[in-house]
Amino acid sequence: MIELKEALQIVLDAARPLESERVDMSDALDRILAEDVAADADMPPFDKAAVDGYACRREDLAGGLTVVETIPAGAVPVKTIGPTQCAKIMTGAVVPQGADCVVMIEQTQALGPDGIRFAGGQTRDNICRRAEDIRCGQIVLRKGSRIGPQQIAVFASFGQVRPLVARRPRVAVIATGDELVAPAERPGPSQIRNSNSPQLAAQLRSMGVIARDCGIVKDTEADIDNALKAALAEDDVVIVSGGVSAGDFDFVPEVLRRNNVRLLFERIAVKPGKPTVFGQSERAYCFGLPGNPVSTFVMFELLVRPFLYRLMGHDYSPAIVQMSLDEPITRRDGERQGWIPVKLTGRTTVRAVEYHGSGHVLALCGADGLICMEIGVGQIEKAAPVSVRLLPGSGL
Ligand code: AMP
Ligand code: MG
Repeated sequence: MIELKEALQIVLDAARPLESERVDMSDALDRILAEDVAADADMPPFDKAAVDGYACRREDLAGGLTVVETIPAGAVPVKTIGPTQCAKIMTGAVVPQGADCVVMIEQTQALGPDGIRFAGGQTRDNICRRAEDIRCGQIVLRKGSRIGPQQIAVFASFGQVRPLVARRPRVAVIATGDELVAPAERPGPSQIRNSNSPQLAAQLRSMGVIARDCGIVKDTEADIDNALKAALAEDDVVIVSGGVSAGDFDFVPEVLRRNNVRLLFERIAVKPGKPTVFGQSERAYCFGLPGNPVSTFVMFELLVRPFLYRLMGHDYSPAIVQMSLDEPITRRDGERQGWIPVKLTGRTTVRAVEYHGSGHVLALCGADGLICMEIGVGQIEKAAPVSVRLLPGSGL
């Protein structure tokens, strides 16, 4: 049995980066950038008015000013501003030559048909200087970064309409278990609904990956073999839930071996998630996650998400915030590293959610994050500082 940090290192080291491809900027959301992007222009590209008002010389503010032209955004000024002159100017327009400030329209008064006067008060320059944000040629986005709406705005600003991104891995999801029925069915007296496949598909989707749902597979060697063979031949990554522990019908590790998947670990000293399996074949990777929904969820977050991001060239680091416990946490034994779902109870406090064990599917609905109890630690005192690993999409 190995520790989680060792398991994480093994999966990250095993990940060979996927190829890259160009996509339309509008399809780049949640993808991982596969090249640096440089600015193709200064930003702002010219001295730009930051407010609606009058462009003039600061030294002339004491007297009346004659308005020599009006400059809308998008227009090129034709006049140079001389002594006691000004141009009416709109936010985003090019500041004319000769002017060194823009007085806000709210700080001026009309003076005859073509004149204005500064009405007093403090005034800034109100000019965004050329290149003050970004210089032409500067690297604005780094290879390996995750693309959100903000990055798409940067692509658009610099004309990068077909960014180079990592190919998305093809990921198969297989649920094993004779007791499972599809969520739309009503379970019989000895059955439960398959919640892991939709849960895993949603976790994958939250990182821009669309799962190939292989449905439910019976706990027989032949059925597992068929499903695994097909997925290992077709997909980059296979995620199997269930069938990895010590029961009589837990055939997944054995069948993986038979399909030339080299298992790099089969047990992790972690709770939940001990019987987690990871292996690699000639062309694919496979995770076998324990079937309890909380275990499946947590092990996806701790191992599979960082692994898939690594495949796409992104160095994933979850958000971690420092909080304090508002109730003590105790556990029966500290033999394994424990991951405890917690919820925020105030701006800086958290508490363990009601959690009956790794089958308690509702427990995670109230959780904002996970805290780690190291091996040997059986209790964390009230008010103790804790590092909370936020769940993706948590409300913080
Ligand atoms: P296993 O890892 O196959 O021993 O399953 C452990 C527990 O998780 C059992 O109580 C299973 O019924 C449950 N389980 C397994 N697969 C799923 C699934 N896809 N959805 C919900 N629960 C599951
Ligand atoms: Mg099972």
